[in-house]
Amino acid sequence: MKKIFSISIVFSLFALKTFAQDNDQRLIVITTDGFRWHEVFKGMDEEIARDKRYNQGDSLNLFKTYGGNSPEAKRQKLLPFFWGTIAKQGQLYGNRNVGNQVDNANPYWFSYPGYSEIMTGQVDTLINSNDYMPNPHTNLLEFFNSKPSYIGKVAAFAAWGAFDRILNEKRAGFPVINAFDDPTVASNDPKMKLISDMLTDSHKPFGTGECLDVFTHHAAMNYLQTKRPKVLYISYGETDEFAHEAKYKFYLEAAHQFDAWVGEIWNWIQSQPDYKGKTTLLITTDHGRGDLDKTKWTGHGQSISDAHEIWFAVMGPKVSPLGEIKTAGQYYQKQLAQTAAKLVGTKFECEHEVTEGVEIK
Ligand SMILES: [Zn+2]
Repeated sequence: MKKIFSISIVFSLFALKTFAQDNDQRLIVITTDGFRWHEVFKGMDEEIARDKRYNQGDSLNLFKTYGGNSPEAKRQKLLPFFWGTIAKQGQLYGNRNVGNQVDNANPYWFSYPGYSEIMTGQVDTLINSNDYMPNPHTNLLEFFNSKPSYIGKVAAFAAWGAFDRILNEKRAGFPVINAFDDPTVASNDPKMKLISDMLTDSHKPFGTGECLDVFTHHAAMNYLQTKRPKVLYISYGETDEFAHEAKYKFYLEAAHQFDAWVGEIWNWIQSQPDYKGKTTLLITTDHGRGDLDKTKWTGHGQSISDAHEIWFAVMGPKVSPLGEIKTAGQYYQKQLAQTAAKLVGTKFECEHEVTEGVEIK
């Protein structure tokens, strides 16, 4: 018995050491809600942009800003950082026009089930409502926060208030700052105080359940720069909100700004010796939206047959610069948690079975 005990101690020490060897790797997961693969790979949809119901009377300007002669030209205008940098240094998955397919594995195609699938690496079909109770399943961020080299170095910033349930804030043990939560709870940096005051006084077009992305972004960025977390999640929401409102102009503008913010985060990483060469980005979305029926681009969920179609991108020290993946393949959202864990040199293990990650070369 004693011998077995000491062997297990040796094994645990070995496991700890193996983990510690990679313990300086960092991870930033970024999502923008309900942003379609169609715009990621083809840029602005001209049919939607021409439609009076969707273009907010600004089609001329939309075509001037985001138009082009090819999908490649249009996507470059909409998402210059994706196509100028990620496409050169990272990898982009989900262009169904070349047979590269990424899908929700959950059967619901809306937010809580999608984020739970991303963060827990599995599907629980009982999670079938955005009002679902605090998530019973361990998530990737929580897993990291339980490891000696990451404890206290994990945080999440989200525009949508549901993340305190999706990430089970009470149990998780790391800051989850979402919607109108006071960000000074996480950091008392003077800039954070200003962000907090502006958040309180800001216009609230989505009610009290979701703030504008600009506040989430700047709070997350300030936290990154001052608290220097090793694992950070940033969740933007405007792409979905403006799509539901049938405002294609705002949807595109939100996506364009999202792209710029991903660029800001990446460029900051490159300027910091403690992050440069050690930080992996995973960028994705929670669900797709309609496209087969063009009037369905505003919605998602089971009643829209193609709303399970999504995309993801990765960039970092263990990601070869393959750019857009143009080979046929089938990937699922539930693989992303383990994919991210693997890219920072660890294995996501918890009480439930975590789906195997995507083989990133
Ligand atoms: Zn939605």
